[in-house]
Amino acid sequence: MKLPPFEYACPTSVAEAVALIAAHDGEAKPLAGGQSLVPMLAFRVAAPTLIVDLRKLGELKDIRIAADGVTLGAMVRWRDILDDKGLRAAHPLLVEAVGHVAHYQIRNRGTVGGSLAHADPAAELPGIAVTCEAEIAATGKAGARTIKAADFFTGALTTALEPDEIITAIRLPPWPAGRRHGFVEFARRRGDFALAGAALFYDADAGGAARNAHVGVIGVADRPLRLAAVEAALNGNVIDEATIAKAGAAASAAVDPPDDIHASGAYRRALVGTLVERALTSAAGR
Ligand SMILES: Cc1cc2nc3c(=O)[nH]c(=O)nc-3n(C[C@H](O)[C@H](O)[C@H](O)COP(=O)(O)OP(=O)(O)OC[C@H]3O[C@@H](n4cnc5c(N)ncnc54)[C@H](O)[C@@H]3O)c2cc1C
Repeated sequence: MKLPPFEYACPTSVAEAVALIAAHDGEAKPLAGGQSLVPMLAFRVAAPTLIVDLRKLGELKDIRIAADGVTLGAMVRWRDILDDKGLRAAHPLLVEAVGHVAHYQIRNRGTVGGSLAHADPAAELPGIAVTCEAEIAATGKAGARTIKAADFFTGALTTALEPDEIITAIRLPPWPAGRRHGFVEFARRRGDFALAGAALFYDADAGGAARNAHVGVIGVADRPLRLAAVEAALNGNVIDEATIAKAGAAASAAVDPPDDIHASGAYRRALVGTLVERALTSAAGR
């Protein structure tokens, strides 16, 4: 289908982009990689009067690795993350998860900010953001603010962003040496959105027991979830077969996915338990 008609602007600063969007009273949309927005336009799910192309905002393309964590500008693409030599050590969970995003062509265009704003419940980066307690930076006509990932995703394809705000960056807290992690998802075809996925990490104390466990899942609710019951099953315990089995059972018990055209809720509930077990097995074996 052809796209609906719209005006087009290509600003060269965040301030200019925000001013353009704010002047259109909720009728303007930012364009990043276009991998979700263009299909939405084609299917008339979105029909903005103005498209504000963010591609000239060089200030949103930086990857910064520092003592306070990893900061990814909103216009950083999946390909940039996978190609960055420092990120694999600075945030191995992020890089592993992004390796599962879509297909080669889509990874060359899709961006961090586009994925966070689109807020697909099965998308990898929102899952990593919630699991890792990331902060999302946004700028609108009222100025800049930071939103905790736990408060950012408010439902399927819905976020806490105001209509005049654009995402400028995401910051992931520092990743200490020796941290264990796992990311596992299941999709029917490689590159498709996952039916479900599990992202997790923990630190190990001197006796080998897990502490500071963080466990997140995607594809089983209207937004990415952190599973406190699974984290409780891990903290203080050595990650052996018995603990892994308990964590898997706790994960299945903690979610209540709806039936949809791709899978029944019961299937996804069982799947998420298996994925948490596999992610833990991978983490413990590293
Ligand atoms: C076949 C296919 C398979 C895919 N599989 C996966 C997958 O497995 N996992 C996955 O995570 N994704 C997948 N995607 C989505 C892909 O990763 C998209 O690139 C991503 O969701 C959107 O990023 P984008 O840069 O293309 O954003 P766009 O399509 O340009 O924008 C998406 C939305 O975000 C808004 N937006 C963009 N940038 C900003 C910003 N900085 N601030 C505020 N709002 C903004 C736009 O207005 C729009 O509403 C798939 C896409 C396709 C077509």
